[in-house]
Amino acid sequence: MKNCINCYREIPDDSIFCPYCGVRQYAEQNQSTGQEEAQESAQQTAGQASGENWVPYLVLAIISTVCCCPPFGIVAIVYAARINNAIIANDSAEAQRAAGNARIWLIVAYTVGILMWIFYLISQIGFWAYDVF
Ligand SMILES: [Zn+2]
Repeated sequence: MKNCINCYREIPDDSIFCPYCGVRQYAEQNQSTGQEEAQESAQQTAGQASGENWVPYLVLAIISTVCCCPPFGIVAIVYAARINNAIIANDSAEAQRAAGNARIWLIVAYTVGILMWIFYLISQIGFWAYDVF
């Protein structure tokens, strides 16, 4: 018996395709390099699957810091940077956790920022109306 290069389940030595996942098996003499390649590509797909792109988070966080609500925007920037670090470290779980936190703080920053603008505009309209009458 040998192990499938994709799902690592035991499959017959002469099988060309894995009966469980259908992935083509490398030729016997290349098995060791084949396994290394498979592991490498598995790692790459893991990195891509976590595929959290930190750039939009960082851009949104900076905009919210400048325009809306600095304290929450800065927290979002910290988490956006953490996504980037986790991707460099190839830690997809950490990248997703940081992205989740960045998303929450972006929502908080924009919600608070927009509410502040609404209250500001209402108060301006209030003063303006007060002056008129
Ligand atoms: Zn398989």
